[in-house]
Amino acid sequence: MTATGTLHRTPTHPWRWIGWLLLSQALVALAWAWLGWKAGLPLMLASHALFVVPVFLPNSGFYAPVLSRLPGPAVWLTIDDGPSDDTLAILDLLERYDARATFFMVGERAAARPELVHEVLRRGHGLGNHSQSHPQAWFWRLGPRRMAGEIGRCQQALAAIAGTPPRWYRSVVGMTNPFVAVALRRHGLARVGWSARGFDGVHCRPDAVVARIARTLAPGAIVLLHEGAAHGHNPAIIESVLRQLQARGLPARLPPETA
Ligand SMILES: [Zn+2]
Repeated sequence: MTATGTLHRTPTHPWRWIGWLLLSQALVALAWAWLGWKAGLPLMLASHALFVVPVFLPNSGFYAPVLSRLPGPAVWLTIDDGPSDDTLAILDLLERYDARATFFMVGERAAARPELVHEVLRRGHGLGNHSQSHPQAWFWRLGPRRMAGEIGRCQQALAAIAGTPPRWYRSVVGMTNPFVAVALRRHGLARVGWSARGFDGVHCRPDAVVARIARTLAPGAIVLLHEGAAHGHNPAIIESVLRQLQARGLPARLPPETA
């Protein structure tokens, strides 16, 4: 198997977690019966935590395989939440620094501004699926039907604009619940996490964000970036990261999409 053959991994057993759930609860029931509630209750709570915690771990492969680092010298810049008012400025920056990036787009934002999607592709960058409506407060607890809709409708929206459907997927706020994998499998999507992030959310200080990213920049890093945030700092953060990459001689390239 080649190195690239392992990069694009779609889930092969999207319901595997049900087996683990049944097994763990059977063991808890046995322990409860034999040892009483003082052992059974803590074991039950701990077993539930085992299934809840991975939802909130962006690089946990428990519910779906995840790519969080690349082989080779290149860095993968991933830019979430667009398209936005920042997209064109970011494209100019990427061009100036001879960098490639993948834009993980929100389906309804792409449908509203298809010309930005075309421009991203025209300039040699990649597209990824980042849900249809970006329901960040409750993405973690979407049921099977709504999760299938968020991933499937984004896939349709981006395919309608780009001509081909995306091959990469990023969970909203990195949360991946038990119903993500089946949708990824249906659409041939591989999930992408990250190895470098700066926490550039609502109350970010750009210099602190860049410092946090810079500490984890290395060959093979997958960098989580954003566009369109209300604080308006996203293009400046991306420019600083590009400057860091240039200073360290790290190229920003796209990984091969074919498995
Ligand atoms: Zn997002």
